[in-house]
Amino acid sequence: MKNIHHLLQTHDVDAALITFMPDIQWACGFTGSNGLLIVRPDDVHFLSDGRYTEQARQEVEGAVIHTPGYALFEYAVEEHLLGDARRVLYQADHVTVAQLERWRALWPSVEWTPGTALLTMEVASKSDEEVARIRRAQQVTDAVFEHLLGFIRPGLSEQEVAAEIVYQHLRRGASKMSFEPIVASGRRGALPHARASIKNLESGDLVVLDFGCFVDGYASDMTRTVALGEPGDEARAVYQVVLDAQRRAIETARAGLSTKALDGAARSVIDEAGYGDFFTHSLGHGIGLQTHEWPRVSHQTDDVLPAGVAVTIEPGVYLPGRFGVRIEDIVVLRPDGCDNLTASPKKLVVL
Ligand code: ZN
Ligand code: ZN
Repeated sequence: MKNIHHLLQTHDVDAALITFMPDIQWACGFTGSNGLLIVRPDDVHFLSDGRYTEQARQEVEGAVIHTPGYALFEYAVEEHLLGDARRVLYQADHVTVAQLERWRALWPSVEWTPGTALLTMEVASKSDEEVARIRRAQQVTDAVFEHLLGFIRPGLSEQEVAAEIVYQHLRRGASKMSFEPIVASGRRGALPHARASIKNLESGDLVVLDFGCFVDGYASDMTRTVALGEPGDEARAVYQVVLDAQRRAIETARAGLSTKALDGAARSVIDEAGYGDFFTHSLGHGIGLQTHEWPRVSHQTDDVLPAGVAVTIEPGVYLPGRFGVRIEDIVVLRPDGCDNLTASPKKLVVL
């Protein structure tokens, strides 16, 4: 069990409810889909439903385990698991109003204390073991990209390529995809989050490929843009601008930098090349137990990046009606720089 008891002191409460599943997985190792942690001054209780009795016994460390059935909160009342706690902390950014009202009805004398981003910094700073798991997931994704270079050809539909991406990840041991693969060719590449469509790949298209998977609970995420046949001078120029921007950000990245400054390292390169209006999203996002987690690396956020945080670096330029280019790696920030977990080549590949 990770140390989560400090929440009681820092928020001056008698107990805390942790209900956000990725935080529960991070804290005690449980990988199921339903559960909660009750943090009390002298112990931690883990509750899940009867489906998970055996799994909880195998996975959960450092907590008293209860798997009573589906009515977890009613059970917690019956078993007096909040004791005589007067003030109880909860994860306000992950609890619905209906849930809170239900708790108020079940524990009428408790003063419910909202907390936001309770474990965000701790979850963001990855241990060496966590970094190794992200790296393993990314190695599967890198292998799939290498396979795709021999698979992609004009006449295939975007959906056929997406299906191949899913199939190749699963057969290489991924437990699931970290999101639906993006395969966006030609003018569809100008839509940063285009889903794969029935459009066929054509000679002369740039193809934006963005995909990742989960291995051992941790996510990968990578984008590469490849050309089917000669893409033309402007596409090559834009590709180089995006690559230069990505390289600048990776050279700049280190712990202690602000999210705004890291975003700015890439954005300034794209601005100077005259494409600033066409880089229409943030530079990147945290990644780990979730594909998208804190921090958002953006010109609109100003958070200090902690040591050990894993973030994506994914600048893009999207010319409406024409084409798009995005290149994305995962880096882990260290005090003096960063480790790049993505090994796939970034020179423009012309297939
Ligand atoms: Zn991505
Ligand atoms: Zn991403």
